[in-house]
Amino acid sequence: MAFHRFKALEAVLTRVPVEVNMPNNKVSEFFGENVFGYDAMREYLSDEAFNSVMAAIDRGIQIDREMADQVAASMKAWANSKGATHYTHWFQPLTGATAEKHDAFFEPTEKGRAIERFGGSQLVQQEPDASSFPNGGIRNTFEARGYTGWDPTSPAFVIGKTLCIPTIFVSYTGEALDYKTPLLKALNVLDKAAVDVCQFFDKNVTKVIATLGWEQEYFLVDEALYNARPDLAMTGRALFGHAPSKGQQLDDHYFGSIPDRATYFMRDFEIESLKLGIPIKTRHNEVAPNQFECAPVFEECNLAVDHNQLLMDVMEKVARRHNFRVLLHEKPFAGVNGSGKHNNWSMSTNTGKNLLSPGNTPKVNLQFLTFFINTLKAVHDNADLMRASIASANNDHRLGANEAPPAIMSVFLGTQLSNVLDELESKVKTGKMSPDEKTALKLGVGKIPDILLDNTDRNRTSPFAFTGNKFEFRAVGSSANCAGPMTVLNAIVADQLVKFKREVDDLMEKGVEKDEAIFQVLRKCILDSKAIRFEGNGYGEEWVQEAAKRGLSNIKTTPEALAAFVSTKTLNIFVRHRIMNDREQHARYDIHLEIYIKKIQIESRVMADLALNHIIPTAIKYQSTLIDNVKGLKEIMSPAEFKKNASIQMEMITEISQHINNIKTNVDAMTEARKKANAIEDVKKQAVQYCEKVKAYFETIRYNVDKLEMIVDDESWPLPKYRELLFTK
Ligand code: ADP
Ligand code: MG
Repeated sequence: MAFHRFKALEAVLTRVPVEVNMPNNKVSEFFGENVFGYDAMREYLSDEAFNSVMAAIDRGIQIDREMADQVAASMKAWANSKGATHYTHWFQPLTGATAEKHDAFFEPTEKGRAIERFGGSQLVQQEPDASSFPNGGIRNTFEARGYTGWDPTSPAFVIGKTLCIPTIFVSYTGEALDYKTPLLKALNVLDKAAVDVCQFFDKNVTKVIATLGWEQEYFLVDEALYNARPDLAMTGRALFGHAPSKGQQLDDHYFGSIPDRATYFMRDFEIESLKLGIPIKTRHNEVAPNQFECAPVFEECNLAVDHNQLLMDVMEKVARRHNFRVLLHEKPFAGVNGSGKHNNWSMSTNTGKNLLSPGNTPKVNLQFLTFFINTLKAVHDNADLMRASIASANNDHRLGANEAPPAIMSVFLGTQLSNVLDELESKVKTGKMSPDEKTALKLGVGKIPDILLDNTDRNRTSPFAFTGNKFEFRAVGSSANCAGPMTVLNAIVADQLVKFKREVDDLMEKGVEKDEAIFQVLRKCILDSKAIRFEGNGYGEEWVQEAAKRGLSNIKTTPEALAAFVSTKTLNIFVRHRIMNDREQHARYDIHLEIYIKKIQIESRVMADLALNHIIPTAIKYQSTLIDNVKGLKEIMSPAEFKKNASIQMEMITEISQHINNIKTNVDAMTEARKKANAIEDVKKQAVQYCEKVKAYFETIRYNVDKLEMIVDDESWPLPKYRELLFTK
């Protein structure tokens, strides 16, 4: 039985904030102390082993078996010095969570003795019993094996008493079963494609990495209140709850001072994160009450993805020490701002140049424009795939809910850069340009200011905004693994850069001078991607109309959005660059549909359970009190007096009956719809049925329950109310 909200509230009000012992030393002294990173490797590895790990990180060169043995021995020695007794491969299956299977270092030997063993083979590969991770039909049961393989580009770390080794997760037949495998491949493809394009401008560029800086939004709810809300506990969001009289309309929480309890929690998880090498830097309140955000300094994309996954784990663990629960759901409270995870993305060269940062020479700026415009073009051409990469049952509540980007993909550039593109469009000639025209053009390009002021005050309603020296993919959901959208973004930009280079090369072969060829191809990209540029209010109804006129798609639901995963265009890109094959891509599509189905199915069940077992009985009890009251009045009053005095109660009695009726009928109908949906074999059709037929009942059921919340005596309402969940401190 869920416990009554008053008990929960009592627990909250008597809580003593759990203060954290701040380490005495400076952050720089404990940053990364639980990571087998550069310094630890320098200390523990032989020169030879160190160099071979570095070569793997920088140049993707395989580490041979003998070196792996050496690395394993040193890693173990280091981990033991940190008190670790176990090790695990740490991977990211498509469930969205991280997975681990711990093994002890020790191994029994003969005569009841034991030794500590951790060799290259344990480091490089493990075979977790993985038959229950989603695989989209890739693994038949007879080959239910999955393998994890060491990813040396993300350093091992110690949590508690366990050494964690970041790994990829693939099937027996080598197909990706996780988020990391295709991400690493996409990053590799981007590296090559971007280096090739950089050669037009700077021969010293031999490596390009994608950079990612995420911003993580979340809610904090007291543990006792959370436990008294089975919907929060089971689905991560409140399925019922009348909006509070005071919401976020005063904006008094945003950037306001952070309550002590929350501050202690933040400090605690930040220290843990910093020790794990996650460069957490900012924290502040968000728009909604009890909503917060944290963000690190950006890092290489694969590492940043791992760090975000790790951070979400750390947050959840640390929250419990402070009697909090972290809600990472995209929309825990209807009517209240949702949570996103902005993905700030750029590319950076081995020469230390951010490719999306303008400079002060025409050459640097032409390079900047090249990467900038190619990104724009890639997003334009693959908007539906971008939409698919952030689609989930949770995020459906957020996109287009007038507080997050709409389900329409568009790109915000800012006035200055929009003007630059317009100028390029009008000034670049397709025929041969005169020397004067060329000079004028280069002069114009040279004038892009190196700080794009208007972009700091950028458009917050855009799903994909240029923010001065990076793009910010704002549509990503707060609970998502960044690897999904990052795989797509890096893959489509890489694909576009390859096309771009080919077109420039073709023109140069025809005798067009290099800069002119670049300008011409860029102009074509600008023209082709015009429809996706939007500087206005992304939340407005006018944009929906305008976008439709421009032929942009507005895809509101996940089952519909996911289709882009298996479109011919997508398959071509992934297959062409060997990021994922047809089978892997289809499996992924099926898995995402299945996850969608399960989420809606669970929500629907929890909703029915709460409505029938918690809400209706409470309403009936209160209705009986009213009936007793009416009966009593009838006994003591004259018929005329009674008529005058009992009419409100009579109305309430009927009203309660009506809501109960509506709830019961709709819950029954929803259960029927679920049965029908469950009988469907085809996963796409089943997802659509869940979306259109099952989910369709949620709103009506909720409406009637929320009405009852306003009628029924506050004393007997079992579920903590919005104002309690959001405002109890
Ligand atoms: P806000 O979006 O809150 O205004 P900033 O614009 O300062 O904040 O930065 C937001 C995030 O963008 C930070 O996590 C930061 O590390 C990241 N960021 C900054 N530069 C880059 C870059 N070149 N590549 C990727 N992320 C970046
Ligand atoms: Mg931001």
